[in-house]
Amino acid sequence: MTDTYAATINGTDALVSAHFDVINPANEQVIGHAPDCGATELDAAVAAARAALPGWRSTPLAQRQAMVKALAALLAEHKNSLMRLLTSEHGKPHADALGDVLGGAHWANAYADMDIPIEVTEDNAERRVEVRRVPIGVVGALAPWNFPVMMAMMKAAPALVAGNTVVLKPSPFTPLTTLRIGELARAIFPPGVLNVLSGGDALGPLMTEHPGIDKITFTGSSATGRRVMASAALSLKRITLELGGNDAAIVLPDVDVPAVAKQIFAAAFGNAGQICVAVKRLYVHADIYDQFAAALVALARAATIGDGAEQGTRFGPIQNRQQFERLVNLIEDSKANGYAFLAGGEAMDRPGYFLPLTLVDNPPEHARIVQEEQFGPILPLLKFDDIDDVVARANDSIYGLGGSVWSADADRALEIGSRLETGNVWINQAQAMYAHSPFGGHKASGIGVESSLEGLLAYTNAQTVAVRKAKPSPVTA
Ligand code: NAD
Repeated sequence: MTDTYAATINGTDALVSAHFDVINPANEQVIGHAPDCGATELDAAVAAARAALPGWRSTPLAQRQAMVKALAALLAEHKNSLMRLLTSEHGKPHADALGDVLGGAHWANAYADMDIPIEVTEDNAERRVEVRRVPIGVVGALAPWNFPVMMAMMKAAPALVAGNTVVLKPSPFTPLTTLRIGELARAIFPPGVLNVLSGGDALGPLMTEHPGIDKITFTGSSATGRRVMASAALSLKRITLELGGNDAAIVLPDVDVPAVAKQIFAAAFGNAGQICVAVKRLYVHADIYDQFAAALVALARAATIGDGAEQGTRFGPIQNRQQFERLVNLIEDSKANGYAFLAGGEAMDRPGYFLPLTLVDNPPEHARIVQEEQFGPILPLLKFDDIDDVVARANDSIYGLGGSVWSADADRALEIGSRLETGNVWINQAQAMYAHSPFGGHKASGIGVESSLEGLLAYTNAQTVAVRKAKPSPVTA
């Protein structure tokens, strides 16, 4: 018996006749059926969101903040059932699934704590000029499959706090947890304020084209981001794009090798490498390359890979067949080009989309495994011995999401890190994201930011209000 999940339109179950199967990537079994929403359901959701907009945007900010906080509390209250559901549709271990659910709650709370400022730019005897931040309207939110809950909350929470109504679409690979959150949220928000729809490949483009949607917030690959931007341009929708990355980590020769190898291992292979800000290219100084590689190999060989629902699993499967096949193809390409493997390199002989943690030994800079975003558990290790050269190699990428520098001398590392052309620079750490600091990519890694007040204000239009005062001051010569 598998469950059928409901889309939420106007605060209630949407009547949808078609459904699609959702697969557990650890065993390829069907675990649920998600509504296959199309143009009809999208029109209904957008109409509900538009009808709810006047009431929601005039609801006092404090009440909107309280309702978003209630949503965060609901995630925390249902964390265990949401964690199990998320593991079954995503594959990630329970501890990571819990982190995704609670991360979603954390971001929702952080946005709900932010106030929307009114900036007074002039206030004198003649006039008062202030800049208000008003909601944009109906927000279409498109989320990826790697962190379904956190990504959904990083979009829905600021949009709602800012007074917009929302149509949220999870990835077709991981729709169930988000659909369930949509059902739970009906108890909090007025009908039409938060609508949650799942659907196949056609639904995203229908959203980016829809004339009733005023802003698209999208997290996903850079290739899809380009399509989203082109489509949104036709109706001049506002956009926020959080896209792919190919983060370089630069390791200087003075590091504590075992300690730093452990941290970089976690930053490269956590979530089976399916993190936008995973370490995806590892540049290690030639003096410690062999020692560092040996430490990573030992960690990779000791890793427990398996079904995320089983106790002790640290790394789950690749989330979907399409991504699994892409990764197998990257491994085959590396083999065909004669690159050496330090660990892994063969698909695992078991049901499900499993790959071992794979380390590629110093492939050339032009290799596909170096140039492309792998988004999986395959890490190229690259040797360097000159700082200017390694900085140039790190920056020679279409991506600009994040980068890290590791050294016992933090000042020196910061000086090197400051030369990286990325939206995030980490020193002696990687992947850290802070709800009160902007998170976004340079170059092909995105447009706009999430998190921080800047991320919240991305869900507003600036409105300059100028009031001429009744009695202008007399002009003095
Ligand atoms: P994807 O681009 O395939 O899909 C993302 C979402 O867009 C899904 O909901 C999908 O259904 C929808 N979609 C697909 N085609 C569309 C179209 N033409 N128009 C509108 N919507 C469309 O991405 P994915 O495979 O789900 O996620 C992996 C990618 O996301 C990686 O590149 C990763 O780096 C990136 N990512 C970036 C961040 C970040 O914050 N920068 C965070 C997580 C993931």
